[in-house]
Amino acid sequence: MLKGKNALVTGSTSGIGLGIAKALAAKGANIILNGFGDVDGPRAEVAALGVQVDYHGADMSKPAEIEAMMKFAAERFGRIDILVNNAGIQHVARIENFPVERWDAIIAINLSSAFHATRLALPAMKAANWGRIINVASVHGLVASAEKSAYVTAKHGVVGLTKVTALENATTGVTCNAICPGWVLTPLVQKQVDAKAAALGLSNADAIKVLLGEKEPSQQFTTPEELGELAVFFCSAAANNVRGVAWNMDGGWIAQ
Ligand code: NAD
Repeated sequence: MLKGKNALVTGSTSGIGLGIAKALAAKGANIILNGFGDVDGPRAEVAALGVQVDYHGADMSKPAEIEAMMKFAAERFGRIDILVNNAGIQHVARIENFPVERWDAIIAINLSSAFHATRLALPAMKAANWGRIINVASVHGLVASAEKSAYVTAKHGVVGLTKVTALENATTGVTCNAICPGWVLTPLVQKQVDAKAAALGLSNADAIKVLLGEKEPSQQFTTPEELGELAVFFCSAAANNVRGVAWNMDGGWIAQ
């Protein structure tokens, strides 16, 4: 279905980004990976799906590095057809205690990076009259939780950016949509499980029960694989006229 298409997934050395990269690769898309930490493992996992894969280590908080990555991707594959803005970090603290440096980093990585990658990807997508921009927002793009001011602000911004991107390209073959996961057990969330276990003196399993019980009626994590399949749907012909949605996959979190 995506044979001959080229996808760039930011923050794809781990978690949801890697899940989406693998789901797109399983449908035939070539992949540019990005992110920190181990690169060889994710690279091998994607290559095993029989597509071309490359990597750029741009720090998504730095616009000049994002520009270099987009240039590298265009040179490597000729064009980027699918852009998944996924890189993100979290920090949990009340506003009066929120480190200013963490606020700036979260806004840069979780929000501004999507603007920069989108503005740089759009010209080639419009010239080809086909493109898919998928922004990994969060339930926190739709509702708030205490102690996540920067994250909730950035994710609401991502949902807004998604709608504007969709509207500005609504008469073209370029669509933009957002995915809004609830809890997904990735390193980003394991840190929050660890903090809860330490604060309440709980085992890992009991801390997970408390975490899910607070927000997620299904009491289940969404998986990177499930989110990958939603990204595949957004790339399909059936989604040609799906524009500007913020689609939650959250075990009922925001239905409450
Ligand atoms: P993760 O920590 O497993 O992965 C984050 C990825 O982003 C990694 O590849 C990391 O190297 C990369 N990254 C971090 N800072 C970067 C930077 N400055 N430049 C380039 N890459 C950088 O986390 P995840 O849970 O898979 O999160 C992925 C996205 O999904 C984030 O935008 C997050 O906000 C969102 N999300 C996660 C959950 C969840 O429950 N895990 C829920 C909703 C939304």
